Amino acid sequence: MEDIEHIQKEMKLIDGKGRRLDGRKPDELRPVRIEAGVLRRADGSAYMEWGGNKVLAAVYGPREAHPRHLQDPARALVQCRYNMAPFSVTDRKRPGPDRRSVEISKVISEAFSSVVFKEQFPRTSVDIFIEVLQADAGTRCAGLTAASVALADAGVPMRDLVASCASGKIDGVVCLDLNKDEDNFGDADCPMAVIPRTGEIVLLQMDGHLTYDEFQKAMSLSLGAAQRLYELQRDALRRRYAVTLQDILKESPPAPMVAGPAESEPELPAEDDFGSEGI
Ligand code: ADP
Repeated sequence: MEDIEHIQKEMKLIDGKGRRLDGRKPDELRPVRIEAGVLRRADGSAYMEWGGNKVLAAVYGPREAHPRHLQDPARALVQCRYNMAPFSVTDRKRPGPDRRSVEISKVISEAFSSVVFKEQFPRTSVDIFIEVLQADAGTRCAGLTAASVALADAGVPMRDLVASCASGKIDGVVCLDLNKDEDNFGDADCPMAVIPRTGEIVLLQMDGHLTYDEFQKAMSLSLGAAQRLYELQRDALRRRYAVTLQDILKESPPAPMVAGPAESEPELPAEDDFGSEGI
């Protein structure tokens, strides 16, 4: 135990030039890629790579809620299941739900509950599945951001997309989007999610301690990153639903320019149809 504390004290997470272990500046986001509509069976889906994180999100619904005693006659339920694959971390993770995944599923469900127009779909449920295929810290933010695109891909009516990012403190410096080493050996991590159009915060958690000023700085970094993520989310949806002129032509090919038989002239049956004798 003492050894670990000693290593933690000795470990430098920011070098003399102000660069982090992976070369980023304190206010720099890891590279992000989002793809919408990657699964055929789900109503909506998205795949996201965010630094070392690889996350898949699938959405079903609104569909009849089961078991029936859970149905709300006034609105839809928004249910989320966040799961980390056993191969998503360096040591094999025990499969199945644990306290952490139950907590993350709950906070993500609550975040989406405040954007989905639930009253339009009584007795139904909107089911969100988040599978973390590779984890490198910030998976709840990646899962939430991807699930938001999957919900839009499913056509679930919402007030807006939700974008999520974390900021924290490492070596006493407030930094955006901590990676696994920074999360493990840093001082604090503060994930948040926002409705970018209105600025409403729909998720806010904190692991560790930040002073009031540090918290303000962390929130301002995360809000800036959320706007960038919002653009990437909309970009992914635009790419998914972009219609080219070629697509339109494929759907309804234009009438050929070469004149065929006039419509008013009924086609006479070929003589052969009536045999050699005729009628
Ligand atoms: P988040 O992924 O949202 O940052 P945490 O702060 O709880 O959530 O986890 C940080 C990181 O710790 C995860 O992204 C993952 O890389 C690692 N981690 C979490 N749970 C486990 C586990 N059971 N086994 C191994 N690594 C884990």
